Amino acid sequence: MTKIDYKSLTLGELKTLLGEMGQPAFRAGQVYSWLHQKQVTSFEEMTNLPQALRDRLAQEGYITVHKVARKLVSKLDGTQKFLFQLRDGNCIETVLMKYKHGNSLCISSQVGCRMGCNFCASTLGGLVRNLTPSEMLEEVYAAQRESGEKVASIVLMGIGEPLDNFDNVMQFLEILSSPEGMNLSLRHVSLSTCGLVDGIYKLMEKKLQLTLSISLHAPNDEIRNRTMPVNKKYNVAELMKACRDYFRVTGRRISFEYALIGGVNDRPQDAKELAALLKGMPCHVNLIPVNPVKERGYQRGSRESIARFQQQLEKLGINATVRRELGSDINAACGQLRRAAEQEAQQR
Ligand code: SAH
Repeated sequence: MTKIDYKSLTLGELKTLLGEMGQPAFRAGQVYSWLHQKQVTSFEEMTNLPQALRDRLAQEGYITVHKVARKLVSKLDGTQKFLFQLRDGNCIETVLMKYKHGNSLCISSQVGCRMGCNFCASTLGGLVRNLTPSEMLEEVYAAQRESGEKVASIVLMGIGEPLDNFDNVMQFLEILSSPEGMNLSLRHVSLSTCGLVDGIYKLMEKKLQLTLSISLHAPNDEIRNRTMPVNKKYNVAELMKACRDYFRVTGRRISFEYALIGGVNDRPQDAKELAALLKGMPCHVNLIPVNPVKERGYQRGSRESIARFQQQLEKLGINATVRRELGSDINAACGQLRRAAEQEAQQR
């Protein structure tokens, strides 16, 4: 019999399960609170449950708990990067960033990725599997436990494509924001996608309060086809239509990510084209100097060219900021730590 993954269950599902075990109605709330508010890692810590129930829960299921395979702390800005090992031995990355307004956690949604963006390290080994809701929740809980810090906001911008793991991500968000759980408002959550248009429409129907982030990275199909294979399935025009529909239906301003790659998408004509593309859309552009990934051979442009790109967008009426880099001394680009650890393991 497969074991039950308790941490992936909503309160309603847990109520049904414990009801079937013949438990009184209040038990589910107790277990849920231990898992998601107190965030314990063992049944033995659930001290208000009868011993017999603790034993039965342990026999029939498990609590997802990540092992810390590696932890790096930036000397420059205190950014903490975790390589977490999952029950099946796979590893994922989670990054805790400290800002004045609170700590932000960047979490992974899949082991690997199949989107194939050619500047990204996460996709080099392809997709291994989706993360479960409990594995995503445990990224948050383990990061809090291991750092002693409270997580105030979450970005789904680590390894993986969240809209390619739609149902588990939705279940994760439901548990994360539940008042009986960690109770984190979705206003403090950003979900980033490379542009899976069908997923954007599915997300739109949920009318969640989260911020949708689009990894655009190119102002036209010619460049985007070269760097992001997803563009061959959903081109720039289709993506932009989905974004406009998303805003119309949800009223939530969209955030666009644009990684500046020297000589590829950072020329003055690219800024002009990007401004024209986004004209009239309530949005914000995050410019990110591309993180050079060894296998990819891309370089970032000069500091001046990045500033020029930003100024040009602003002049054309597009709200744009250059993202402050954090953790540059600890290999913070997504997928790089996991990849380095895998390569070391192969060499052993
Ligand atoms: N799959 C999702 C979320 C994960 S990637 C998405 O594509 O949005 C998080 C962000 O980092 C994306 O905007 C992605 O394009 C960007 N990114 C990936 N590799 C990068 C690199 N080498 N330099 C800068 N940004 C990168």
